[in-house]
Amino acid sequence: MPDACDAIVVGAGPNGLAAAITLARAGCSVRVYEANATIGGGARSAELTLPGFLHDVCSAVHPLAAGSPFFKTLPLERFGLEWIQPEIPLAHPLDNGSAACLYKDLDFTAEQLGRDSRAYRRLMQPLAHNWEQLAIEFLQPMLHWPQHPITLTRFGIPAICPATLLARFLFRHARAQALFAGIAAHSFLPLEKPVSSAFALVLGLAGHAVGWPIPRSGSQQISIALAGYLRELGGRIELNRRVENLNELPKSRAILLDVSVWEFLRIAGRQMPPGYRRRLEKFRHAPGIFKIDYALSSPIPWKAEACRRAGTIHLGGTIDEIAAAERELVRGKIPERPFVLVAQQSLFDETRAPRGNHTLWAYCHVPFNCDADMSDQIESQIERFAPGFRDCIIARHKMSAADLAQSNPNLAGGDISGGSANLTQLIARPTFSLTPYRTSLPGVYLCSASTPPGGGVHGMCGYHAACAALRDHFSTRNQ
Ligand SMILES: Cc1cc2nc3c(=O)[nH]c(=O)nc-3n(C[C@H](O)[C@H](O)[C@H](O)COP(=O)(O)OP(=O)(O)OC[C@H]3O[C@@H](n4cnc5c(N)ncnc54)[C@H](O)[C@@H]3O)c2cc1C
Repeated sequence: MPDACDAIVVGAGPNGLAAAITLARAGCSVRVYEANATIGGGARSAELTLPGFLHDVCSAVHPLAAGSPFFKTLPLERFGLEWIQPEIPLAHPLDNGSAACLYKDLDFTAEQLGRDSRAYRRLMQPLAHNWEQLAIEFLQPMLHWPQHPITLTRFGIPAICPATLLARFLFRHARAQALFAGIAAHSFLPLEKPVSSAFALVLGLAGHAVGWPIPRSGSQQISIALAGYLRELGGRIELNRRVENLNELPKSRAILLDVSVWEFLRIAGRQMPPGYRRRLEKFRHAPGIFKIDYALSSPIPWKAEACRRAGTIHLGGTIDEIAAAERELVRGKIPERPFVLVAQQSLFDETRAPRGNHTLWAYCHVPFNCDADMSDQIESQIERFAPGFRDCIIARHKMSAADLAQSNPNLAGGDISGGSANLTQLIARPTFSLTPYRTSLPGVYLCSASTPPGGGVHGMCGYHAACAALRDHFSTRNQ
């Protein structure tokens, strides 16, 4: 068995690395065990289709990483992380050949929404001015004493609304409603459910505050930079080490698990008090995804000119259509016209594909654990807004829910959020507690996206969990 150390982190995803850095910065000796042959978890890149085509295996677009209060404190640029801002962060094409867009500039975004421009400004402007305060408030457990109560209340009232209700109440026209619904659909919630608007607000505001950037040379660069800094601080990472049981770990004062609730139950369920185990077993999954990456011979021939200049494209048409597709999922049905998220990184980053060629990253929402091949439905949605798309395809790489789970134990059933982000699980994530990172096992902390603030590459779950461990076990060290 290897030597003892102050803290062990299981999992080298963004949250595991963030936890390890927080502990190492406070002077702890830290070792990270990662099941995979590469670091990064949900922030990795690889030549999935053909040599020379660099694809993001999981995350691609990073408003939350760029806006993360914790990442901001790290010297990630020194370790090679460079953000690229696509000319237009997000475009949402409609059947009439136009597209509603989220621009970094809030006024510009409002202006293209025509008669909904005033409503958009009224909703977003006061919050956008306070992004820094808001990011601190919502990127931590919901149950906390707010530092900025007025700003938080101003955000909280619209955020708690169902997205369909808020969009139809505020906006009169299809463009603004569709744009809002597409961003809200990142929640994986039916858009008639409370708090689905919170996702549209957070991601929309992040777009105005920090953009929806992509890392030059792929999302793996985020992980490389985090790991580089961790190693500089003295932390060690061991790859190909899937932890099956907590007893196999060397002695340490704290263990931080960057694993989902279900992986936690698998590796430590038998050691837990039954009451705590039962509470964890009640935690619910989000729907899954089906992901596909393309190598393309040319850029996509989008009908709407704005889509040719956008990093991310939302394909789903009107608010009614997107809401219907998301409703189908919770009934366990496969939508005929699913909501599809697309990123076209190679338009803005020449390192992603050979000269003249391009990559395309896309996924659609499917019911949890659904193993259907959705490539036809995804390609039909792309063709709908970009006739001729299929002629550009040189190669495809598909990932079903099962493939995703195989690539990362945290993605069981294709759930990429670490568990549903419904209202209950936003408050009780993974259980109802003021310190949700502490588990019932002494010295064991959960630090993955199954803890607050939830899914996305931002490292805040890892940071907060490590702060809790520092307070409990290393009270003399700096945080
Ligand atoms: C297809 C896809 C697209 C996404 N798109 C975006 C996006 O564009 N923007 C965004 O911000 N987010 C996106 N996400 C979500 C984001 O990737 C995750 O929310 C984020 O990576 C969660 O970080 P984490 O550290 O909690 O877990 P993970 O990133 O899942 O990392 C956990 C790590 O722990 C390891 N592990 C698990 N169990 C064990 C074990 N028993 N022993 C050892 N190691 C273990 C895993 O191998 C993994 O490396 C996407 C996710 C997917 C899958």
